[in-house]
Amino acid sequence: MVLIGKLFRPHGYDRMSSKVHITRCPEYDLDQIKPQIKNHLDQYPRFKDIGGKKVLLKINLLSATEPERAVTTHPTFLKALVLEIQDRGGSVLIADSPGGLFNKGTLTKAYREAGIQKVADETGAELNYNFNSHEEKHRDGRFLKRFNICDYISSCDLTIAVPKIKTHMFCGLTCAMKIMFGAVPGTEKVKYHTRFPDTLDFSKMLLDLTDLCKVDLFLVDGIIGMDGKGPARGDPREVGSIVSGEDPTTVDLQVTRMVGLDPSKLPITKAAKEQGLIDLDQKIDVTGDGSDLRISPKFKPAKGGALATSPPSFLKRFIINISTNKPHVGIKKCIGCGVCRDNCAGDAIVIINEKAKIDHSKCIRCYCCHELCPHDAIYLTIKESGLGNFIGDMGYRMYGTVRDNK
Ligand code: SF4
Ligand code: SF4
Repeated sequence: MVLIGKLFRPHGYDRMSSKVHITRCPEYDLDQIKPQIKNHLDQYPRFKDIGGKKVLLKINLLSATEPERAVTTHPTFLKALVLEIQDRGGSVLIADSPGGLFNKGTLTKAYREAGIQKVADETGAELNYNFNSHEEKHRDGRFLKRFNICDYISSCDLTIAVPKIKTHMFCGLTCAMKIMFGAVPGTEKVKYHTRFPDTLDFSKMLLDLTDLCKVDLFLVDGIIGMDGKGPARGDPREVGSIVSGEDPTTVDLQVTRMVGLDPSKLPITKAAKEQGLIDLDQKIDVTGDGSDLRISPKFKPAKGGALATSPPSFLKRFIINISTNKPHVGIKKCIGCGVCRDNCAGDAIVIINEKAKIDHSKCIRCYCCHELCPHDAIYLTIKESGLGNFIGDMGYRMYGTVRDNK
């Protein structure tokens, strides 16, 4: 009985329901968030009668990071959503596949440190520990027609994706159109980065993947987002909103307007435009008391990241080298755990003398090492690392020795 509706629902989003609903919510206060979540779910007929249904909450659990850093879906937001679904008679499965190995150790740590375990303990929601995945064809895929996706994605009657609003060094923005990359199991993600080193190609792949996952609703934790060097090392930014919609492309387009990012410069929104899914200046039907919300100052873009254009291939390496930030290893912080090496799409990292060493000639600037290093030991600028540390890394890369300059 479970899944029948989902199995027979065609891929793709209902283009008639590209409405976006935005409410103002200034802080992570359960009593403020809960009624707002009710208000959001009331906008969507699919969530009016969910008695006896199981709802997958696909959160952003990028890594084992405490909530204050604004990297992951906030536990108070998640708790309010779980309680609202339970009030409607539904049950909940919370899931994501963070970077790194997709196993019990990684997930347990991420659930605990991001405050998700506590939400499950307090509400009785189920946490996913199913690590199986399968290959799935996407007949209607515009760019890619076959994916390897986690089994948890198709294990419930309904799916709500619960992203945050963050800048992204590779895609420009991570919100509704990017969150389903967590449907790809752990280090399998590396293969997609390797196969699609171009930001536009990678973003088009994401659009197909999002489509394949048949998400019923995107409900954005837009209370505190992240700008600058997102999605893991940027600055937390107050946005003060909750955003929802059934169409990820219009949700993200409206989000760019709300936080002041230029969609013509973001690979993810450019890809949606190239696929004919949105016009960057289209009128969007926005409802709710936050429909006119525009934050000030605007979000700082993830500058120095990957390009939003596709130069001819003979120029690409040169342009990438001069225009993007190279990742560097903070020699003092690095403990040689190998997480960066295991997630490196360019096969550019080796561990020598218990320190990571990056070969920049192989690096495709996917910034997965920067996102996923559990010890904040990857830097993108000299300012970030400190000059001494930067010189230490240069020396280490040239001579294979460790100079601890911090
Ligand atoms: S840079 Fe970070 S992820 Fe890579 S080996 Fe060092 S500590 Fe581990
Ligand atoms: S070194 Fe870092 S940025 Fe470069 S390809 Fe590897 S993971 Fe990506």
